[in-house]
Amino acid sequence: MTISNPTEATDAAPLQRGRGRLQDKVAIITGSARGIGAATAITFAREGAQVVICDIMAEQGKELASQLNSTYANGRPTAIFVPADVTNANSVANLVQQTVHHFGKLDILVNNAGITRDAQLKKMDEEDFDLVVDINLKGVFLCGKAAANQMLVQGHGGVILNAASIVGIDGNFGQTNYVATKSAVIGMTKVWARELGPKGIRVNALAPGFIDTPMTAQMPEKIYNMMVERTPLRRAGVPEDVANAYLWLASDEAAFINGVVLRVDGGIVIGT
Ligand code: NAP
Repeated sequence: MTISNPTEATDAAPLQRGRGRLQDKVAIITGSARGIGAATAITFAREGAQVVICDIMAEQGKELASQLNSTYANGRPTAIFVPADVTNANSVANLVQQTVHHFGKLDILVNNAGITRDAQLKKMDEEDFDLVVDINLKGVFLCGKAAANQMLVQGHGGVILNAASIVGIDGNFGQTNYVATKSAVIGMTKVWARELGPKGIRVNALAPGFIDTPMTAQMPEKIYNMMVERTPLRRAGVPEDVANAYLWLASDEAAFINGVVLRVDGGIVIGT
């Protein structure tokens, strides 16, 4: 993923300038070596945040952190890469420790890491069910808990944003494991909004529709075209569509938004 040069901004793309909407905030974005996570890391850095790129893909993660440091450095490091597996509690504890060690605090967590292992129920392997649950659900729990505890110690609030999906609301053919985790993430979001809201920690979920990323790149052309056809805006989303929604929810502009599930889907209607 390449970073747009902020000096090349035009009126047609005012967001490219960066208005410091996350100035001095520190954000962890899980699964951010590529796809929506990488776009979110770039967007947050452009808006003044110090970002922690976290992934199991070390090479791409380090490369992105180094690009962010050379593009957005402002007399201080903008990004670090911390290798982390969201399914492992020790790895997640290290992620939060490294964040605080390098940047002094944690303000925002984007629980983005997620995978698919699609199959119809009659053929779905138990291993694939467990793997998707481990990463998409347990990973969100472990990272959310570790981040919330750090934010509670700091005592000045925070933001947790969870990657759900429209299929977690509507269901989808061939995605028993994935849909189960995304529905559960929506449920956890609503619990955390209640538990953490009184301490000034806002928790919301994002439900992307059909977004062009490595996750959807394997899809047969016929299915891809069908998804676009079912989207009234007649295109797939791009990672920046989702990153911009995360930006808004993470910023003070969304200061009274808590416990919602925001669809970012071009109005898609999933069929049977
Ligand atoms: P992606 O391109 O596959 O990126 C996900 C990243 O998470 C990858 O770099 C992946 O690394 C990493 N990851 C996987 N397991 C991990 C683990 N245990 N610990 C840390 N990182 C891990 O996916 P995406 O399309 O950007 O999706 C991002 C999020 O949005 C996911 O939660 C997804 O479910 C959600 N979403 C996507 C769409 C869509 O249309 N793309 C729609 C709705 C929701 P590896 O490649 O090595 O596994």
